[in-house]
Amino acid sequence: MLKRIVLMVALSTLAACAQPPARIVQAPPPVQLQDPDAVCLSELQGMSIQYQPVATFGDPDVGCGIDNPVKVSATGSAWNRPGVVSCPMARTIGRFEADVVQPAALANFGQGVRRIHHAGTYDCRTRRTQTQVAASLGGSKGGRLSEHSKGRAIDIMAFELDDGTMVSVKKDWRGKGTKSAFLQQVARASCSVFNVTLTPNHDRLHQDHLHLDIGPYGLCGY
Ligand SMILES: [Zn+2]
Repeated sequence: MLKRIVLMVALSTLAACAQPPARIVQAPPPVQLQDPDAVCLSELQGMSIQYQPVATFGDPDVGCGIDNPVKVSATGSAWNRPGVVSCPMARTIGRFEADVVQPAALANFGQGVRRIHHAGTYDCRTRRTQTQVAASLGGSKGGRLSEHSKGRAIDIMAFELDDGTMVSVKKDWRGKGTKSAFLQQVARASCSVFNVTLTPNHDRLHQDHLHLDIGPYGLCGY
């Protein structure tokens, strides 16, 4: 019995020796993400958003610019065109798409949204309030910077369903149809995701889009 055990141990030792030595693979150094957005960037990697971090830019004299911006690609994301936003804004839009837009589309149309059509993200300009538009027509400038100037805002014009059907804020906001119900539902729910939601109900400057931002002011213009 003892001989058999010794033989088995010897055989298993031989078998272990016969295996090729384990390869030692040098792990790549961890990517150094900039604070304070390190957590944000790593969370973006788990969302259905394709993006590239881009260098911080801005004009301190004017106050425009984005710290740790990301360029969200139209390929691999539901965006109809690329856009540069702050990382927290990209993350918020990702949550908005997953938690608000897709469930509302499924509930109303029985299908998802394949494209979110936006008209822009970063834009160094002051807010377009009706007073300021009137003032700028008279040649004067001024006013508080828009959240678009900080990469914290997006203007959404329409949602394109999986079958290609377009649901447009301009055409479909008002009315009693399913498209209107969907838009109203999305706008109402967006107030709990973004800090500011402006809709056609807010003023005449928002008749064709939803303005959504994560600036420091809270306003649900639904
Ligand atoms: Zn806007």
